[in-house]
Amino acid sequence: MLHLLKRPNDEVERLGNSIINARNNIGYCKVCHNISDTETCAICADQRRDAHTLCVVENIQDVMSIENTQQYNGRYHVLGGIISPMDGIGPNDLTIDSLEERVKAGGINEVILALSATIEGDTTSFYIYKKLVSTGVKITTLARGVAVGDSLQYADEVTLGSSLLNRIPFSR
Ligand SMILES: [Zn+2]
Repeated sequence: MLHLLKRPNDEVERLGNSIINARNNIGYCKVCHNISDTETCAICADQRRDAHTLCVVENIQDVMSIENTQQYNGRYHVLGGIISPMDGIGPNDLTIDSLEERVKAGGINEVILALSATIEGDTTSFYIYKKLVSTGVKITTLARGVAVGDSLQYADEVTLGSSLLNRIPFSR
């Protein structure tokens, strides 16, 4: 903070305004609920990406983790959390309805459930599976290279990348 005091006033003011603008403009993509400063995020807007494949993740950090693997070229659906009765988080607190609408709207061939290998993650995956199974969409999940109990953020890029490439049909 101290170095700011040595800068000219107008420079500090510009910096302050740009932080305020950034804060005001950050929102969520209306399609996938990723963080975005535009209505539709850069990933959803990118025509080079495969619009027929959706990867369902818990949060925006997971989007970043998967993007870092460079093994995925589809689109995302960010749930905004996972079902966790202990924390008072139920299905209605997440973007599951919006996911169901996206799939029912058609054009999606595969939904990849890329949630943490925890009880909460499994519960959430199964809930989504039950919601989507009647649509006939292919539902897959990460190969369990991601160790049980691990959240995606802690999986290294190589492991996460191969879990995505070797994904398996979701079953229970
Ligand atoms: Zn988006």
